[in-house]
Amino acid sequence: MDLKNHIRPVPDYPKPGILFYDISTLLAHPEAWHETIERLAAIIAKEKPDVLAGIESRGFLLAAPLALRLGLGFIMVRKKGKLPGKTIPYSYDLEYGSDTIEIQEDAIKPGQRVVMLDDLLATGGTMEAAVALLRQAGADVRMAACIIELNFLKGREKLAGLPVTTLIQYD
Ligand code: 5GP
Repeated sequence: MDLKNHIRPVPDYPKPGILFYDISTLLAHPEAWHETIERLAAIIAKEKPDVLAGIESRGFLLAAPLALRLGLGFIMVRKKGKLPGKTIPYSYDLEYGSDTIEIQEDAIKPGQRVVMLDDLLATGGTMEAAVALLRQAGADVRMAACIIELNFLKGREKLAGLPVTTLIQYD
């Protein structure tokens, strides 16, 4: 099955000139969605993770079913202010301004093997920040996995040697 056929390119979203790759059409197609999860599960299982981490919000759509499928727990990497109790924050620069993500303080035990999930790797800035946060919390980050990769933005290079798995690429 060519999963690319189930991605909907949306011109001029969220701003004029940007081509947004919408995964809603993939999620709405049971066979394509099942195949997406099965393909990622097979690759991720080889890393023998202890836990999966999903990046808010579309990363949750992957990390939750994959964690169930692989018999693992799932950690939420969220935007600042959404998690109760003590958290570990991590701030990173955006094109304009900055953003902060966080996890709960007790989410990771030192040395735990983690695979990170998001829907799409573009510049790699979001994934880079999430990996740095998990490492700061003591995680042994083994891999970043996404459905889609925008090759021309070279996000993979930003992740400096971390194995990256993606199912669909755009040049
Ligand atoms: P990056 O930080 O790698 O530049 O951007 C990746 C983040 O932005 C991901 O969290 C992803 O959800 C979101 N994103 C950026 N562009 C797109 C897109 O075209 N489609 C989707 N589904 N998400 C995008």
